[in-house]
Amino acid sequence: MSERLKPALAVCCAAILSLLLLAACRSEAPAPTATSAPAPTATSAPAPTATSAPAPTATSAPAPTATSAPAPTATSAPAPTATTEAPPDEGPSFQIPPPTMTMLADGVYHYFGFFTSSLVVISGGEVLITDTANPLRAQSLKEEIAKLTDSPVTTIALTHEHYDHVGGTGLFEDATIICQWNCQFAFDLSQSPFADVPTEYETFDDFREIRVGDKIVQLHYLGPGDGDATAIIYMPAERIIVTADMYEPRALTHKNWVDDKNFAGTRRILNIISGWNIDHAINAHSPGTNPLDLLENVEYYNDLYDAVKAAVDEAIAQAGGSTFAAYGLFDTLPQTMELEKYRDWAEYDSSFPRHVERMLLAVYHGD
Ligand SMILES: [Zn+2]
Repeated sequence: MSERLKPALAVCCAAILSLLLLAACRSEAPAPTATSAPAPTATSAPAPTATSAPAPTATSAPAPTATSAPAPTATSAPAPTATTEAPPDEGPSFQIPPPTMTMLADGVYHYFGFFTSSLVVISGGEVLITDTANPLRAQSLKEEIAKLTDSPVTTIALTHEHYDHVGGTGLFEDATIICQWNCQFAFDLSQSPFADVPTEYETFDDFREIRVGDKIVQLHYLGPGDGDATAIIYMPAERIIVTADMYEPRALTHKNWVDDKNFAGTRRILNIISGWNIDHAINAHSPGTNPLDLLENVEYYNDLYDAVKAAVDEAIAQAGGSTFAAYGLFDTLPQTMELEKYRDWAEYDSSFPRHVERMLLAVYHGD
């Protein structure tokens, strides 16, 4: 379980703020068992092509702990010098922890720095990375990669279009940037103070497979999840998956960010990928890679959907079949619904009502 962090002024991006709030009250409760809910029907995205092992179900998949990964090979990097000093009324200044580079498989690493994850794949004189995030973090990532290889970064695969994930790509001048087709609309806006967006990039629609030396990295689009250009990044042979802003370990997505999160889509995607072969599940803003964190969130989204859907069905039935009568749930259900099983998750108290409201909208509108 990740270390406790004090809420503080964010470094430079909104998602980092969310992480700090989540991490500040993360609990240590025992993990529930994996979900048994049936997975929704898969979309048109091609199935993962991993053939090196039988496909375990979500309930039978091996559940390595985050600490079972091979020992980190490059964790001695000096701490970044950036220190964000909070305004006088915002509490103490905050020191950014030093980055870590943890080896997950031969030539495959998990960089975690500035509260954000990147996959790093090194093979055959090429290097693929995921989200650079911002120029300061990109510089740190570049320095850590230089400790492992002289090869240049040749590919940057972006997990989605959000500005706190896509900045800093310009530091890797040899890289081809790839994102899902929908990213172009957010990149065209460029109004945000975080908007260091790529100007030249390639897009993919539903699926793209990238060879990095002798390794294969797949980009899957399974519909919108967090944002609209949600890419699920998967290495079938190494059984490593990367998602961004889809879930946090035993924490609810903070209420500030749920408006840009498609709850129906997030539930669909998590159910689909929970059936894939996964030994390491990298998420955007926590250092752990335990697949159980993903499975617990599949269960959470299924439980939330089931509870909200049941309330809607009951309200419609009581109104003699009128769906209009159930609209009143927007004014009552967020304040009355509880899911006791998740009460000890971080941000439950602050954000669960907004999750109910957002899932209510998903039930009514389908997204
Ligand atoms: Zn996001």
